[in-house]
Amino acid sequence: AAGLLSGKRGLIMGLANNRSIAWGIAKACRTHGAELAFTYQGDALKKRVEPLCNELGGFLAGHCDVTDAASLDAVFAAVEKHWGSIDFVVHAIAFSDKDELDGRYVDTTAENFNKTLNISCFSFTSVAQRAEKIMPNGGSLLTLTYYGSEKWMPHYNVMGVAKAALEASVRYLAADLGGKNIRVNSISAGPIKTLAASGISGLRYIIKWNELNSPLRRATTIEEVGDAAVYYLSPMSRGVTGEVHHVDSGYHIVGMKHPDAPDI
Ligand code: NAD
Repeated sequence: AAGLLSGKRGLIMGLANNRSIAWGIAKACRTHGAELAFTYQGDALKKRVEPLCNELGGFLAGHCDVTDAASLDAVFAAVEKHWGSIDFVVHAIAFSDKDELDGRYVDTTAENFNKTLNISCFSFTSVAQRAEKIMPNGGSLLTLTYYGSEKWMPHYNVMGVAKAALEASVRYLAADLGGKNIRVNSISAGPIKTLAASGISGLRYIIKWNELNSPLRRATTIEEVGDAAVYYLSPMSRGVTGEVHHVDSGYHIVGMKHPDAPDI
């Protein structure tokens, strides 16, 4: 049966395990007919990513650490060799020193600021630079962001600053690449317990707060993010670029605690 993504080929970057947002997106893409390639960060994660990749009939494009330009080049060369061209890339990558996902933003070090912005923001631009070269027929680039870019959130600190820069870069990349029919969008996901999110102190409380106070009164799942991603990666969203799309049970519209929500 023809799926929304049948005949489309996409690279998924940022899969760590079966709790990853990248896994929710990859599963949904496969369900809708896409052919997938995956990167992994180092041999330890390769052991987790390889079976997941096989489960979806994908291929491993190789190790990628976004701080190492040569590894990014190698991955895009592998994809080009395998497929020739590509239709979409999912960027689900972020990092900050755990010690600074606690306490005050004002205490951020220059070293961790630069590292966080490099891995969590610039890497999407460096992916776009390489993807552009193998998207002769246009394409779709998608990254993941969080509401801590728009409003203060406890403990999100420098990551909130990085996500604000990432969302701005989505708009600038969308304008630069629009003439080539390459669309650039982001999904702002509600809090989900993943490996990366576990570094944020008080994560359980944040998830519970969202669950009790969001319009839909439930926590966000990787499957919900995956289904929204299919829209952005498919021609269904062909008129849409530069967007920050919230998949967060509607939490971003809320102005204060719901009067019916219990204290936690
Ligand atoms: P995850 O731990 O499953 O995925 C994070 C990925 O980033 C891992 O696969 C890791 O290998 C990769 N990564 C980190 N540093 C890297 C580097 N130097 N080079 C290459 N890869 C690197 O966690 P996740 O929550 O699924 O995160 C995916 C994205 O979703 C991130 O951008 C995150 O900020 C975003 N996000 C997460 C939440 C949440 O609550 N979990 C909410 C909104 C947005």
